[in-house]
Amino acid sequence: MSLVVLTGMPKDDQQQLRIRRFLMSVAMYVLASVPQIISYYGGIFPGWVLVSWACAAALIQFGFYLAFRFNLNLRFKDPSLTIAQMLVAIVMVLLTQIYAGQARGAYLVVLVIIMVFGSFKLHTRQLLLISVLAVLTYGLTLPLVRIVEGDRFNLAVEATLWCSFSAFLPFVSVLGGSISALRKRLVMSNTKLQVALQQVTELATHDELTGAYNRRYLLEMLKHEKNRADRGGGSFCICLFDLDHFKNVNDTLGHQAGDQVLKVFASTIESVLRSTDLFARFGGEEFLLFLPHTTLEMARRCVQRIQAAISTATYAGLPADLRITASIGLAHYDLQEEIPALIERVDKALYQAKRSGRNRMEVAPLNRV
Ligand code: GH3
Ligand code: MG
Ligand code: MG
Repeated sequence: MSLVVLTGMPKDDQQQLRIRRFLMSVAMYVLASVPQIISYYGGIFPGWVLVSWACAAALIQFGFYLAFRFNLNLRFKDPSLTIAQMLVAIVMVLLTQIYAGQARGAYLVVLVIIMVFGSFKLHTRQLLLISVLAVLTYGLTLPLVRIVEGDRFNLAVEATLWCSFSAFLPFVSVLGGSISALRKRLVMSNTKLQVALQQVTELATHDELTGAYNRRYLLEMLKHEKNRADRGGGSFCICLFDLDHFKNVNDTLGHQAGDQVLKVFASTIESVLRSTDLFARFGGEEFLLFLPHTTLEMARRCVQRIQAAISTATYAGLPADLRITASIGLAHYDLQEEIPALIERVDKALYQAKRSGRNRMEVAPLNRV
């Protein structure tokens, strides 16, 4: 399965999304600097910690920016670099909270936000592991907090904070993991729905055997073009093809060979058409070609091109000397004419081509003449 089918998104869009999420984390860093500046002016936070934090954050985020900007992230198993971004953020939070004094809780709460950020990408197990790691590392910073705080160190308060984070951080991870799983399931079912919709549309408009448009779709298009033409939107032609003595192919080479001939016949014609032309299987071994914005002369030349292509077509898996011909009726749309009347005219022209010896084209005369 392609990347698009698996994720429901082209590769470039995914990179855009990663960059958007990265910018969200940059915004978090900018926001996080506000309480630090307030702490600094309030005398809680030493200036050198604030400056070091800001420099380290700017440098690291610039590193991530370069990785995304030059697609270096694509070399990693997880190109979103979520785990790396989370670990860096956790380390930054844990280092700054050592110097945060009584405002420590304001920094630690960022750990929760980091877990939510991770839930965009990671599974519950990965999130749990990171949260346990964060809680343990936080515990390891407590002796440092004690040194920094000195006499103000309150073991009961610090223990309460640590216990609270030990309990809630893994909990947030499990919640985030479930939301992430739900989101992934939603993306998957959306993708499956899109694929199913494409298949249904294909089935509703195309012939299964030859891949050409089906009769219903072609008639629908003819109706539209008739209305357009009647309002002065230019004219069009249609050609009806019927394979000559096709029954013989089935009788002598088998039905499967007959199917193969129909497929090759259709693709041979399609290969010489303009992208705006519409080629449909009209039924059995009959095909209808709709040539919009086409004069009779242009249509004639188009049919000649098709006849040349048919005459040299080869049918893989079938005798090399197998030559298939077709009789063709060609009709130019007469303004205000009804579609059934147009088809009747082209059918008569085809019948005339058959009667005149097959492997030829006949142009349908206008009814009013
Ligand atoms: P003519 O030159 O007069 O058109 O002769 P013909 O044998 O082509 O015409 P006829 O109408 O007698 O036979 C058409 C044959 O096309 C009969 C039918 O079994 C075959 N046919 C129709 N649809 C399919 C198909 O999907 N696959 C195969 N293999 N044969 C098909
Ligand atoms: Mg026929
Ligand atoms: Mg036939």
